[in-house]
Amino acid sequence: MKDAAPSMVLLSEYRAPDWCVEHLDLHFALDPAETRVESRIRVRRAERAGPGAALRLHGQDLELLRLEIDGKEPDPDSVTVDAEGLLLAGLPETAVIRIETSLRPEANTALEGLYVSGGSLCTQCEAEGFRRITYFPDRPDVLTRYRVRLEADAARYPVLLANGNRVDAGELPGGRHYAVWEDPFPKPSYLFALVAGDLACVSDRFTTRSGREVALEVYVEHHNRDRCDHALASLKRAMRYDEEAFGREYDLDVYMIVAVDDFNMGAMENKGLNLFNAKYVLASPETATDDDYVHIESVIAHEYFHNWSGNRVTCRDWFQLSLKEGLTVFRDQEFTTDCTLFGVKRIDDVQRLRAFQFPEDAGPLAHPVRPDHYAEINNFYTMTVYEKGAEVIRMLRALIGRDVFRRGLDLYFERFDGQAVTTDDFVDVMAEVSGRDLGLFRRWYTQAGTPRLSAGTRFDAETGVLQVDLAQQTPPTPGQKEKHPLHIPVRLALLDRDGSRLPAQLVDGPEMSTPAMSEWVLELSADKQSFKLHGLRKAPAAVSWLRGFSAPVSLDAGQGTDELAHLVAHDDDAFARWDAAQTLLRRAVIARVEGAIDATLEAALTTAMAALLEDSAVEPVLLAALLELPSHRELMESFERADPVAVDGARRAVEKAVFAPLAERLVARTPDRKRWDDGAFTAEAMGQRRLLNRILALRVAVGAEGAVAEAARQYREASSQTLAMAALAAVNESTDPVRGELLADFERRYRNDPLVLDKWFALEAGSQVGDGFARLERLLEHPGFRWPNPNRVRAVLGPFMAQNHRHFHQADGTGYRRLAGYLEQLDALNPQTAARLAQPLTRWQRLEPNRSAQMRAVLEQLAGKDLSRDLADVVQRGLAR
Ligand SMILES: [Zn+2]
Repeated sequence: MKDAAPSMVLLSEYRAPDWCVEHLDLHFALDPAETRVESRIRVRRAERAGPGAALRLHGQDLELLRLEIDGKEPDPDSVTVDAEGLLLAGLPETAVIRIETSLRPEANTALEGLYVSGGSLCTQCEAEGFRRITYFPDRPDVLTRYRVRLEADAARYPVLLANGNRVDAGELPGGRHYAVWEDPFPKPSYLFALVAGDLACVSDRFTTRSGREVALEVYVEHHNRDRCDHALASLKRAMRYDEEAFGREYDLDVYMIVAVDDFNMGAMENKGLNLFNAKYVLASPETATDDDYVHIESVIAHEYFHNWSGNRVTCRDWFQLSLKEGLTVFRDQEFTTDCTLFGVKRIDDVQRLRAFQFPEDAGPLAHPVRPDHYAEINNFYTMTVYEKGAEVIRMLRALIGRDVFRRGLDLYFERFDGQAVTTDDFVDVMAEVSGRDLGLFRRWYTQAGTPRLSAGTRFDAETGVLQVDLAQQTPPTPGQKEKHPLHIPVRLALLDRDGSRLPAQLVDGPEMSTPAMSEWVLELSADKQSFKLHGLRKAPAAVSWLRGFSAPVSLDAGQGTDELAHLVAHDDDAFARWDAAQTLLRRAVIARVEGAIDATLEAALTTAMAALLEDSAVEPVLLAALLELPSHRELMESFERADPVAVDGARRAVEKAVFAPLAERLVARTPDRKRWDDGAFTAEAMGQRRLLNRILALRVAVGAEGAVAEAARQYREASSQTLAMAALAAVNESTDPVRGELLADFERRYRNDPLVLDKWFALEAGSQVGDGFARLERLLEHPGFRWPNPNRVRAVLGPFMAQNHRHFHQADGTGYRRLAGYLEQLDALNPQTAARLAQPLTRWQRLEPNRSAQMRAVLEQLAGKDLSRDLADVVQRGLAR
């Protein structure tokens, strides 16, 4: 490998910067073949630093043309050039440094720093892309004001954008023009951005609650200008919501979003100038599904919310990434819950957490929400930092209460505005406003692994007291053998026979007690703890545990089939109700994998599902979720080691056994297809379509009569992408020739529409029918396939690994070897995307022995190759036992 032992960055070695940057002037002479960057940095030695302190300027893959300090060439002895960049010694207390560098954007396929996408020039600087543009202290705790002048060919790049407000623009000789942008807010270099291109601007306005007029501008390729309405409407909703729910207001005169085809991430919150993967901007009912609409709205909101949680208050160092990401994910989840999906948003989020974060937390790449070391920071943009980070924030709110939490947030933004801070600072503020001791709670930031919670109750009929017993245990993770108890909020309620909640009084110790309530948050903070609920006249029929998924733990409450079925029928907490169904379904799949069909359980599930289908009080959107089995990824976590193909088979067999007897009821509960096929972005319409599509998928899966024909009809008659795509997905595992006909038709229709074509690539790559390897080869040779485009590569390799179990996990290891070959090829172009896609290959420890050995062998072979630091880091950690 290039870096046999990539050097480790340690949190314990953090030191505040010795130098502050007082101002930064950047001049770009833009050209795709060669761009010249002139930078003028005014620095001042920090008071705490000694006179001998050297100034570190990071730089990577740069051609240095000129270096001047205070107008003079520096003494060569005072300049060290090393792998990190430049180290300048012997500087006076203040100095002006001029640097000229040369870049080749066209040749930049890593998509970090300045690169070309479509016909535009654009940047991506988080986490460490700025050092690929110029030499600079490229660390998040160095904040300064930027003035940026862009010059380019006026015909080729009529639009010139950077952060902040545009203060000047004009013509230049030779058909060139320029624009000057000033950002009044000091920012770290990772938030810098520029865009130059021939783009259409779709605009709108927003008036903030204090009366500031803000221009909203979305920049896209000209032919996409009619697909921006949803993005703009989402942005306005997010801006209003942030004012109302979080008291945060926008602070510049313009807010710009630019859609880019080639992008490693979802989107980037550069101050005032967000860059977006086009996938998260462009939408019309004919080209985007409801899920696309929801994702776009949530990503737009997420990046907008960063203006405060990330930009105004930023991270001291990259170990604190969750300070901005966990908090901002929490904020965007709240937004989607309150504005769009309501009760089922929590279910969607828990599904994702269980399918992706729990396995990460149980595997070789496990790390705490606030890691304490890394070799490559790009590999820490993870589900743990983002989604588990958001769960930690949500628990904090559950513990201190909504109002106190909101006061804490206000204080946090006020106290740290314009500063780079830590997750400890955040928790300190919450401890201060609540007066609570959150010492133990902080362990959520430093301890990796998903806690296992066991729970039980004992009822004493004579005293009317229900004793609740809770115990926790976190399995060891790499580098953390020993685990300690966490502070876990467990929300619960007791249900009576008729489904109503039973009131009782929580008695905490001999003296303290609280008034009678019908829902409690128990705070588990030791290995084992018991709580007492007083004043019950009878034993509850069922305990509703972990309501709203009050903590990111895996729960074993040892509840029997009857109790869980009671919750499925009656629980008024949507998450707990859904989770009860998931537990029953999971048990049925596990039984089949272990070779013992639990016919009684499967029959009970059929009865429970039949009752739900008859119950008109269950909202369509919730019913759709209740009819869904746990995902394959999540089910794999139920076993120490498993055969992924067998798990997939068992999952399908349970689906068939439970739902085949309900074919008629499913038809009867199907929403009117014609009525809801309008793509309207309303909770009601989306809920009806979710149910419609879930039922269609179930009917095809169980082989119900006429179901495939109905799917074909739905596809052909659909006017919304949501119905068309669902019909294709429903038949994607069918051996009926209609599958091939429909997919071929779809490819013909959308051949020239990259975002829609990605959906076709994903369906083809994920299907297990026929010869999946031959199909994969054909996909990679398709004229629309491009290795440099991350969306396209992800659309093919992602579903192949995640859904095509029969081929990816073929017992002779062919799938693993193919994948490794592709990753090596991709790594030469785009290390970040290659490293991300390599993660499924690190799951070998959880596979049955034969596949485990095959996968490990492939990983070992990869380790012997000349890999990027990104991919080498994942491969090495993946191999550690
Ligand atoms: Zn973010």
